[in-house]
Amino acid sequence: QVLDEFLDLKGNIRVFCRIRPISGGENFGHFRPVVALDSSNVLLRLTDNKSKSYSFDKVFHPGSSQDEVFSEVEPVIKSALDGYNACIFAYGQTGTGKTFTMEGSPDSPGMVPRAIEALFKQVEDSNHAYLFTFSMLEIYMGNIKDLLVPQPRKAMDPMPPCLSLHTDPKGGIEIDNLVAIQVSDFKQALRLYRLGCQSRSTASTNSNTNSSRSHSLIRISITCFDAPERRRETNKVWFVDLGGSERVLKTKAWGRRLEEGKAINLSLSALGDVMNALQRKRFHIPYRNSKLTQVLKDSLGKDSKTLMLVHVSPKEEDLCETICSLNFATRAR
Ligand code: ADP
Ligand code: MG
Repeated sequence: QVLDEFLDLKGNIRVFCRIRPISGGENFGHFRPVVALDSSNVLLRLTDNKSKSYSFDKVFHPGSSQDEVFSEVEPVIKSALDGYNACIFAYGQTGTGKTFTMEGSPDSPGMVPRAIEALFKQVEDSNHAYLFTFSMLEIYMGNIKDLLVPQPRKAMDPMPPCLSLHTDPKGGIEIDNLVAIQVSDFKQALRLYRLGCQSRSTASTNSNTNSSRSHSLIRISITCFDAPERRRETNKVWFVDLGGSERVLKTKAWGRRLEEGKAINLSLSALGDVMNALQRKRFHIPYRNSKLTQVLKDSLGKDSKTLMLVHVSPKEEDLCETICSLNFATRAR
């Protein structure tokens, strides 16, 4: 029923907003630029007497728990068991809580570990037999890195090769040689996930980047192998922790940092273009403009569900970036 509602009217793209709480040592400044008005609107205060409101499918205020967020995300994830592909994105400026939402912390697990647990639980209670595989990769400056391939321990050791894409005869896109490990219970899947997260940070130390300049993607593929032949397809759920959306030209970045920032900005706008074209039911969807949208091509489209969680900072000094993020969200919706 929730699913029917999802397919209804609004199409398959939903956009949520999550406002990060202020942490211990921080200060708000003299006013709060963003406030959650209610469960679907945020108010952006531009000055003391000028403001603008933005509406979302759901708004999470700074006090919202991981549980509350997950309960809204869960139906999208479970739709993979009913024959849909799904993509869940965390978008926002660096430091706004994307990784907190996706990965979480040891005492407050995020969407990915919760999703893994919920999927296996749902399958245990069903009378069908499912096969799960788990993959994890990173896109950095247009290069695709497999996070389940052991990373070199020392800076001098050779890096594993980057993965390439190829188009299959039906127009789909495959990632060549991406490791996909079969997982039979949620503990095994969680172990792999932790391994991949570790590998992400090792990879970023070695190549002198940090994770805010790359996109990290997790793919769970689900096949119902006792379904009738025609329905025995594989569905995918993607979790994407996007690179920081801060506009690099406004910062004082130069050299490699500038190039990294430009690559992230370009791929985020390519993603925005794809979502916008899908929402407007355009004939041509510009998947080809970035590696990110190419990789996700068959999970970003008419028979897929997309959930964009836009993260914003509550701080005055971040107002410009917050405006950009809210504008991005409006265009995607
Ligand atoms: P990003 O991945 O967008 O760069 P992080 O997820 O690393 O941001 O968040 C930055 C910091 O803020 C981290 O220390 C994180 O634990 C904390 N944080 C973010 N969102 C929340 C939240 N909703 N509740 C508690 N702490 C949060
Ligand atoms: Mg992060």
